[in-house]
Amino acid sequence: MDNVHRIKQDIVEIGKRIYNKGFAAANDGNISVRVGENEVLCTPTMHSKGFLKVDDICTIDMAGKQTAGRKKRSSEALLHLEIYKQRSDIKSVVHCHPPHATAFAVAREPIPQCVLPEVEVFLGDVPITKYETPGGQDFADTIRPFVDRTNVIILANHGTVSFGENVERAYWWTEILDAYCRILILAKQLGKVHYFSEEKERELLDLKQQWGFSDPRNTKEFEDCDVCANDIFRDSWAESGVERNAFEAPPAMGPRAVKSPASADTAELIKTITEQVMAQLQK
Ligand SMILES: [Zn+2]
Repeated sequence: MDNVHRIKQDIVEIGKRIYNKGFAAANDGNISVRVGENEVLCTPTMHSKGFLKVDDICTIDMAGKQTAGRKKRSSEALLHLEIYKQRSDIKSVVHCHPPHATAFAVAREPIPQCVLPEVEVFLGDVPITKYETPGGQDFADTIRPFVDRTNVIILANHGTVSFGENVERAYWWTEILDAYCRILILAKQLGKVHYFSEEKERELLDLKQQWGFSDPRNTKEFEDCDVCANDIFRDSWAESGVERNAFEAPPAMGPRAVKSPASADTAELIKTITEQVMAQLQK
């Protein structure tokens, strides 16, 4: 692990970016970095993320108890710790309230897939949690079902949390998600949102695998999934109150669509008519 002072400088730097992007109004948002088995650096509560100093960064243990720092640790540290407990590969967590992604959190609108190639490669399906009052363990528990299948989660009526192997990477997913949500909202105002095909999506998933980014859609468990239809997290929607309202489902394009009962009926009908016409002609 890099030396602690340099990591604190990185936290200060990402804090500035979050604040300057408008992702954290007033004292919103928090950042942490796991520097040891039982040691986590985190930002203090009631402090603007745009004006942090290295000395403001607190140290806590994996139970959330503060072990160093002159300011009180963030009230949302338990959310960060839940991620570290589940994912040993994760070294940093960033939580903030980016407005466009948070608009989807408030509307509880699922993030459509198969719209922008880079988003498919970097993000994949993005889950939305059920709502819980921020701060406590119940709130931290809302992310549990999703942490092992994604690096970015939308928190219902609240904001986002993203995580990675360092603080820059952890922040990266939030920035990509918010830019995407902004484009979706703009495109919707212009009119129709077009989706690319399942075949083109499969090409992107192949690239994703080659570049070493994991995606549940590239695993055996989801090999038959509808890759553009939010199949990974759709089972959680009912409990979270998530529903498609603003963005329609992408047209069903996979093998399942071809085998649908409607098209089977149509094929049968065409066959019957053709046979009758042929029979008439042969008379
Ligand atoms: Zn928050």
